[in-house]
Amino acid sequence: MSDVSKVMILYTGGTIGMKITPRGYAPAKGYLQKQLRSMPQFHDPSQPELTTPPSRLGRRVCYQIKEYEPLLDSSNMEYSDWVEIAEDIERHYDDYDAFIVLHGTDTMAYGTSALSFMLVNLAKPVIVTGSQLPLSEIRNDAVENLLGALALAGQYNIPEVGLYFRSQLFRGNRVRKVDASAFDAFASGDFPPLARVGVDVSVQWSLVRTASQNRLRVASITEKNVATLRIFPGMPAAL
Ligand code: ASP
Repeated sequence: MSDVSKVMILYTGGTIGMKITPRGYAPAKGYLQKQLRSMPQFHDPSQPELTTPPSRLGRRVCYQIKEYEPLLDSSNMEYSDWVEIAEDIERHYDDYDAFIVLHGTDTMAYGTSALSFMLVNLAKPVIVTGSQLPLSEIRNDAVENLLGALALAGQYNIPEVGLYFRSQLFRGNRVRKVDASAFDAFASGDFPPLARVGVDVSVQWSLVRTASQNRLRVASITEKNVATLRIFPGMPAAL
């Protein structure tokens, strides 16, 4: 890697980029990009493209944002939206070192899990994040979540689909939303986080999957009629 990493941000919607309006938070076209460009943590004005200032490790992240149209509230997302994200990652796979997906928190754990199964032979980081309060609020978790995701995506080659929230990177298919009103909104039960971002970044390399040597392919979800069945002791076979 050079000292500039290239990251693609796929901005699908969610609270993170919403604007404060008299009728509550609402998505607005181009608003997130404009906000990030004006914030020194997210953009060094000496650079023509959106680029972070150098990190403690001396690495910058140069990023491009693909904004989805329309921006979605994640409770309205369907399999087809997650397939579209996976296909966009596949289309741009060779152009970037890593990918960040901005997603609403309501179905974020489901979307992240779906992506982890659809992106077969992944060898680059795909980090899904969002926030409970938008970037446009003075007090928010959006800045920290997006900065942390950029730091991980741009500096650590964790070749998995992960969900990053409140300083922790969770394996994408082990995580669930556990709180609708706290910044600590996600947890992964018995499976420890893959990385924690504190004073230093600590990655649990022993848990991280090995990057595949094969070409990435997308195994799209095509079957919608899938139900879950909870099995419990004493359950009659007929049931
Ligand atoms: N309702 C929003 C969504 O899931 C909330 C959020 O972004 O957290 O898109």
